[in-house]
Amino acid sequence: MVHDNGVQTYLDPKDAMQHLAEYNKADGLSVEEIMDSRVNGGLTYNDFLILPGYIDFPASEVTLETKITKNISIKTPFISSPMDTVTETEMAVNMALLGGVGVIHNNCSPEEQAEMVRKVKKFENGFITDPVCLTPNHTVGDIHMIKARLGYSGIPITASGKLYSILLGIVTARDIQFHEDHTTLLKDVMTTDLVIAQEGVTLEEANQILRSSKRGKLPIVNARGELVSLLARSDLLKNINFPLASKSPRSKQLICAAAIGTRAEDKTRLQKLVDAGLDIVVLDSSQGNSSYQIEMIQYIKKTYGNKLDVIAGNIVTREQAARLIEAGADALRVGMGSGSICITQEVMAVGRPQGTAVYMVSQFAKKFGIPVIADGGIQNIGHITKALALGASTVMMGGLLAGTAESPGEYFYHEGQRLKKYRGMGSLDAMERSGNFCSATLPAANRYFSDRDVIKVAQGVAGAVVDKGSIRKFVPYLLTGLQHALQDIGAKNLDHLKENVESGKVRFELRTAAAQVEGGVHGLYSYEKRLYS
Ligand code: GDP
Ligand code: 5GP
Repeated sequence: MVHDNGVQTYLDPKDAMQHLAEYNKADGLSVEEIMDSRVNGGLTYNDFLILPGYIDFPASEVTLETKITKNISIKTPFISSPMDTVTETEMAVNMALLGGVGVIHNNCSPEEQAEMVRKVKKFENGFITDPVCLTPNHTVGDIHMIKARLGYSGIPITASGKLYSILLGIVTARDIQFHEDHTTLLKDVMTTDLVIAQEGVTLEEANQILRSSKRGKLPIVNARGELVSLLARSDLLKNINFPLASKSPRSKQLICAAAIGTRAEDKTRLQKLVDAGLDIVVLDSSQGNSSYQIEMIQYIKKTYGNKLDVIAGNIVTREQAARLIEAGADALRVGMGSGSICITQEVMAVGRPQGTAVYMVSQFAKKFGIPVIADGGIQNIGHITKALALGASTVMMGGLLAGTAESPGEYFYHEGQRLKKYRGMGSLDAMERSGNFCSATLPAANRYFSDRDVIKVAQGVAGAVVDKGSIRKFVPYLLTGLQHALQDIGAKNLDHLKENVESGKVRFELRTAAAQVEGGVHGLYSYEKRLYS
């Protein structure tokens, strides 16, 4: 303040916080203000920024636990997309180990898809309640066959070769390591000096016995000496190495999701997936607000009850959300035309800018406790942070996870770059995938076309993305980056972030085109963009 005598005085710095409180308007805009599409139009992630808050905790203390569906919580908000260049067994196993979930695509036969689900579910266990057993009269060759097909060779030997039969011994990799003769009977190689535990033992007690026994497996037997389940030492290690892993609370198996369509034949497909242990089904449709999808949700709820959670979508409006919530959806997948390989908005004239879509649907769905998955258009950690701030519980990524070692397909070189194929499921390339299907009934075709279509109009493109290394490094990079982003905002966890956005404490700012340029690297002659080490 300048006085009449020209002397400038200032407020006492000690009063800065109090003075701030006297302002009747907080700095920046509330989420309602930026998301008012009548004023600002539809927004996407790059159109706004979140203003920094107050930090009084280390980034490492930020936790990212969230809900993927109404009934299932996971420790990180990362989902891999059901696309045939993104999620098969390898991706789904690793996403789950790292705290997220992989959704296995359905552009394959029901049997192939069920086999992928089975492999994810069998990857890790608490008590293995259906262990593969053999009789003493099986051979070393039989063990090698099991190893080749299922990946393990620690096989309990029971009188009948089945569960609930007298346990006689166990054959492990070491028992047959130097056995050239595949016709040798297992009774001649099996270990009979067994460390066992009695039925009724808790998982914790059994793990303790396994630890101190120094054996690879712990058979659990009942009072009659019959095998009832098995515990594997390797699962203890997986547990230690992957503390965030997404697991079913009871079986300790990895959580697995898979996509299906909404046609009559998808009901048969679904049964095979459920038999393989599926936890979550994703109804994969580019416009989910349809009588077909509503009928399918009701069918699944009636047939499988609480045993299977349903993610419905895709949608971008409250009106679409209302119908699917009423039908019984356990989560909503939001995004239409925002995907990196997507041409829906260009060709169909439908869709919605992704930021607005996520905000509008999340606002509505949260009243019913239904989580929203922000699907499509996620290019970096900043986008993930913004999707979550706008109300999404998780983010689904296609392009960002394509090109990793765990995505399907081989690497190839083009102009010195190591690349992997990435294609939209609505691209003609995906729809014409060779296999057991004629293109009219290909599941990928079902997502985008009606069976009466004579000419197929593509809604996606096929292309390539650069090698991103393994998701074992990439997902922890996303996680650590997200922890730092939340720390900058001043939120210790995702609930905290949402509460503070809702209450207007977390503030936003729109970005002009010039501000967007300023926010990127600019003015350099050349640079190398290394994202993590
Ligand atoms: P092994 O020593 O060759 O049996 O293999 P590991 O113990 O290293 O790994 C076995 C993995 O397969 C563990 O994660 C088990 O939970 C899993 N698994 C799933 N089903 C079975 C089964 O029927 N038998 C065995 N041995 N392992 C199973
Ligand atoms: P991305 O993460 O690459 O930006 O987007 C992935 C998402 O795009 C998928 O999860 C799916 O919802 C959507 N998608 C996949 N294939 C196609 C396609 O061919 N066309 C359209 N419109 N969307 C697609």
